[in-house]
Formats: sequence, C-alpha cells, structure tokens
Amino acid sequence: MSRKYDELMTHVEKMQALEMAESLFSWDMETGAPREAAPLTARVMGSLSSQYFDILTSPQVGELICQAKEEELNEVQAAIVRELAKTRDRLCRIPAEEYREYAELIAGAAQVWARAKRENDFASFAPVLTRIIEMSKRIADYSRKEGQSRYDAMLWQYEEGFGQAELDPFFALLRENIVPLLKRVTQEGEPISAAPLHRSFDVEKQRKFNCFLAEYIGFDFGRGVLAESEHPFTDGLHNHDVRITTHYYENMLESAMFSTIHESGHAIYEMNVDDAVTLTPAGGGASCGMHESQSRLMENMIGRSPSFWEPLYPRLQELFGEELAGVSREDFVRMINRAEPSLIRTEADELTYCLHVMIRYEIEKELIDGNLGVSELPQVWNDKYEAYLGIRPANDAEGVLQDIHWAQGSIGYFPSYALGNAFAAQIYHAMGREVDIDGCLRQGNLEPIRGWLKEKIHRFGRVKPAKELLQEATGEDFNPSYYIDYLTGKFRSLYRL
Ligand code: ZN
Repeated sequence: MSRKYDELMTHVEKMQALEMAESLFSWDMETGAPREAAPLTARVMGSLSSQYFDILTSPQVGELICQAKEEELNEVQAAIVRELAKTRDRLCRIPAEEYREYAELIAGAAQVWARAKRENDFASFAPVLTRIIEMSKRIADYSRKEGQSRYDAMLWQYEEGFGQAELDPFFALLRENIVPLLKRVTQEGEPISAAPLHRSFDVEKQRKFNCFLAEYIGFDFGRGVLAESEHPFTDGLHNHDVRITTHYYENMLESAMFSTIHESGHAIYEMNVDDAVTLTPAGGGASCGMHESQSRLMENMIGRSPSFWEPLYPRLQELFGEELAGVSREDFVRMINRAEPSLIRTEADELTYCLHVMIRYEIEKELIDGNLGVSELPQVWNDKYEAYLGIRPANDAEGVLQDIHWAQGSIGYFPSYALGNAFAAQIYHAMGREVDIDGCLRQGNLEPIRGWLKEKIHRFGRVKPAKELLQEATGEDFNPSYYIDYLTGKFRSLYRL
C-alpha cells in the first residue's frame, strides 16, 4: 500500500543505525573509554555523522519523502516523514562546505573553552566564540522563516513555537516574581543550614541507595544502565536501551541522589515511548523542553516533596544512621529544598535556577540580534548576576566561562531548561486533578504517577509537537502562572514568609 514509505524506511533504518552507533560511542567516551582513545574515536564519529548527512541530504531520500507524503499514512508514519523532512530541510539549506567548516570549528572549540575555563582566561576563548557566533548567524539566515529574527530561528531549533514573542513575556514574568521573592528569602527567611549533608558519606553505600532510588522512580534495569560520569546525563538509544549516569561526591549526599532522580525522569520518558515509534525519527522526546519537564518534575515536584521522603527517609537512615544522627525527616526535607543565590547554574536550587537561564537568554538575544560584542561579555555577565542574584563572580571561570553550550554552538538552547520547569509545573498541576499524588508518594507507590505520564506524554515520543502535547495533556495552552504559583507557595511556606 504505502510502497514509497516502505522504501524510505530502508534508508531510515540505515540512518538510525548510524545515529545509534554514534550515540553509543559518545556514551562510551564519557563513561568507559580510555582517555587516549578520544582523537581516533572522534574521527570514527565524524565519519558516521557524515554518512548520516549524505543519506539524509541525498536527492533520492528527498524524492522519497515527497512521494511518501502523498501516500496514505497513519499518524505515526506521518510524524516520521514530517520529522525527517524537517531535519533534511534544515541541513539542505546549508551549503555543504559551510556545514563542514562549522562542524570542524565546533569539534575544536570544546578544547579551547575547557583550557580557557581551567586557566580563567576568557581572552583565549573570545576569538573562537566570535567565529562561532558569526557562523551561527549565517546558518540561522539559511533556515529562518519569514518574520523570524536570527535568534528566533536558533530558538525554534530546540523548542518549536517558542521564539522571542513567547519567551520575552515568560522571562519577564519570572523576573517580576522570582527576583523579589529571592530577596525576601535571603533577607527575611529563616536560614536553613545543610551542614549535615556535607558530612562524609561512604560512596559504596551511596551507590547502593542510588540504584534503589532509580528503580523506585521507575528505571527498568533490564532495559537500562546506571553508570558514572563527570556530568550526569541520559543517552536514550531506544526504548529497550536507555543509559543514565550520576556522579558521587563523598561530602555531598544530595548531589548524586538528585542527579539520579533527574536522569531517571529523562529515562522513563524514553523507556515509555511506544514500540511503533522508538528507533525512528519520531522516537525520543517531543522537544528539549518537554524532556526537561519530565526530569524536573521527578527531581523537584516529586523528589523534593515531603511525602516522597515519608517511606524513603527511614531507608536512607538505615544506611547512614551515624551520619544523619539528629537529622529528622522534616529537617532533611527543609535542607534539600533550601534556596540561596549561587554562581553556578548546574548547582543552582529550584528557586534561583531560572534566573541563571534568564541571564543567558538576555545575553544571547543581544549577541545575535543586538549589538553586544564578545569582548563585553564578562562585564555584562557579572553585572546581570549582581542585579538579579545579588552576587558577583570573582572570575570568568565561575562566570561567563562556566557552561560548555556556546562552545558547542548550542546558542538558543538554554531557554528550554526554563521552559521545562514551567511545563513541569503545568503538567504536575493537571496530574494532580486526576491522581492523588501525595497519597501515592506516602504509600511508596509511584505507579499511578508513571502511568499518567506515560498515557498523556511519554508514549507519543515525537509524534505530537510539544505545544500540542502540553495542550492535550493539561487541557490548556502553555501557562507559566502554574510555575510561579508553585514556586511562590512553596518558598513562602518553606521560609515562613
Ligand atoms: Zn536534564
């Protein structure tokens, strides 16, 4: 019946195999591969990625996509063709030579950035960053739609439907609400000390607890692996092979735990994608922001809630009785929810996190659509931290050089982190209308929560666009007021304001 579609799928099969191999290499580089392997493995990965590029941009695949679109397709098939066409269209607009030049630039930039950060030397990274911005602007010009600015085109690449017209009011709302709330927390709130969580916690025991925690969240060890890496991440190959990492610190008990819960949130999304969709261009999550919503929902709304720890805290105390002596469950829950302004985004608490993202958004806007020059970045960065968080980085390593994203060419990616939090609050609110969340958590039964998320979000993969999925799952369009209400209610009560 759908002959051209089937023919197209034979090419897709090859592309998926190449993509999966590349993904597996990148997992291996972060977790198990010997350090010296990097340069040669990078060559192999480069070859895999260019084979992928050649297949997708070939005229034959282009023609098959057009023909398949004319055939009668079901919803999943149509989504696969749509996603394929979208990626192909973006790649085909960029002249091959420029694409290669850009790929090479990015391949070398991470090392320059890492050295600059290590040596606190922004000037040595500035020329590469300037080049990345120039090329990114050119590439955005190829792909931007009518009426879109360059930065809008970059934003859409990560979160379709969320350009500056949507993000400006979103971040304004966050700024108006979170900045004054944070000021009250730091000036009037009763300080919360988390000193007991920085005692010495045996890493072997932490491993045991984190494995238990991942499984408790719903991570299926028959279809997944939990390993360790410098920065925790998730690598979803398909719904039967999802890999996550965490990172253990002897003196920071909560760090690994919340990384594990966060990545498990990403993982169960991938594990719950329908069999018909996984391992196709419509597999994986609906968007970066939607993926992040699932990890943040598990990490913060579920994982930091008092009811979550009712059945779990005794288990933690069993392992660390001496270390947690004198720390009641109520104390512990207050400690893991404390908020304080800090300089590093990845370590930021729930209240301040989005301010870090907002600063990057404001800066990117000016870099791409405005007149901000790379040399002015450190000053602008530090001024914004002072204005919004009330603290000023002492050097660029803990300031403008902290994130790898710009060195990877991921300009426009940051806002999806903030959107993820807001999606999560909206989804959590909608779920609360149908599921007794606290009741489930108190009983130690997360199944109804997972079931709801699977039914409303996970199983679709990328078949429905994120905006539509959010609308259908929650009954309304994107509405960030749930997030503001959630944060305001939570931190006012935590700090007794
Ligand atoms: Zn994440």
